[in-house]
Amino acid sequence: MPNELTGTPLVPSAGASQNQAPSPETRDALGRRLKDLRISVTDRCNFRCTYCMPKEVFGPDFAFLPHQELLTFEEIARLTQVFVRHGVRKVRLTGGEPLLRRDLEVLIAMLNQIDGVEDIALTTNGSLLTLDKARRLKAAGLRRITISLDSLDNDIFTSMNDVRFPVSKVLEAIDAAKHAGLSPVKINMVVRKGTNDHCVVKMAEHFRGTGHILRFIEYMDVGNSNQWKLDEVVPAAQILEAIDSQWPLEPVSPVLPGEVAKRYRYRDGKGEIGIIASVTQPFCSGCTRARLSSEGLLYTCLFGTRGHDLRAMLREGASDEQISERLESIWTARTDRYSELRSEQTRTQRRNRVEMSHIGG
Ligand code: SAM
Ligand code: SF4
Ligand code: SF4
Repeated sequence: MPNELTGTPLVPSAGASQNQAPSPETRDALGRRLKDLRISVTDRCNFRCTYCMPKEVFGPDFAFLPHQELLTFEEIARLTQVFVRHGVRKVRLTGGEPLLRRDLEVLIAMLNQIDGVEDIALTTNGSLLTLDKARRLKAAGLRRITISLDSLDNDIFTSMNDVRFPVSKVLEAIDAAKHAGLSPVKINMVVRKGTNDHCVVKMAEHFRGTGHILRFIEYMDVGNSNQWKLDEVVPAAQILEAIDSQWPLEPVSPVLPGEVAKRYRYRDGKGEIGIIASVTQPFCSGCTRARLSSEGLLYTCLFGTRGHDLRAMLREGASDEQISERLESIWTARTDRYSELRSEQTRTQRRNRVEMSHIGG
């Protein structure tokens, strides 16, 4: 398959060497390894979720990045190779809305060719996921998919995505993913008090027994746009209690240490759910995740205020060795534990944080 910009075949880009022996595992200043890489492939989105890209901020005049500012697929693949040297094994493509990036399957195929990449996943709002697209993504090497859906109630969902996108289309996307062999599909539901918290049990009921894994996410204070308030967070314990009182649950031990979602299964065997309790039960001590923004800034925390410009290095002709050294120095200096520190900080002290749609959720 040719690449999206140049039409060249899928080969490692200039400057990328093959068969590099991975260096000994790289650990940060708090002893955490570098294992996962989240790559934002675009800062644009066709939704305006009120908790992520509210219309008042991301209006018609909002200056998104011009295409030439985005990392090309070759640049992403080349950086990923360097990350793999330092321990990355799992890659997740996100955004913005990643399926807005044309021919995303071409990038997936390129990443799939990288020795050491064991898992490629995608988080999407599902709006552009047809059966044909899902099959192409799967054929290119996509292993897992997460589709976001905040409510089954059409009025609530459309008011949350704020572009009148209907629930039925997201449900079709979930089916498409399943039929393409991307099961189990994970479903992300951000729970916001007073908005969709009363939908939790209905969502659980709908997805119980389907084989899909519903994950509840505590509403987070990412970026500066969503006017986050702590009292809009529904604590994970409350979500669990609501479901457990209907269908008793039991914890499932994590498959991998450092998994962000706490897993529970229905005692009646009807499947499992996950809870991402980043506000009430922070998991920074096991955080092995780096984030690459669509224009090539490396963030070592979702709540980072400053990215490290890897694109500049690429475009100024740095070698893989030089990028690798830079990455090593960034990761080994990492001390981020924002969520753990959150409760100790005065909530009025808003820092100039990067938006989630920009950095990749
Ligand atoms: N557009 C894609 C989507 O919505 O799935 C991928 C990007 S989105 C930023 C990734 C995930 O972050 C979504 O599941 C979304 O619901 C979640 N998210 C966005 N803003 C959030 C917030 N303030 N708190 C918690 N989760 C959030
Ligand atoms: Fe777009 Fe995803 Fe953010 Fe919603 S959560 S605005 S779909 S990037
Ligand atoms: Fe990782 Fe930062 Fe989230 Fe803590 S707050 S889990 S360090 S991304």
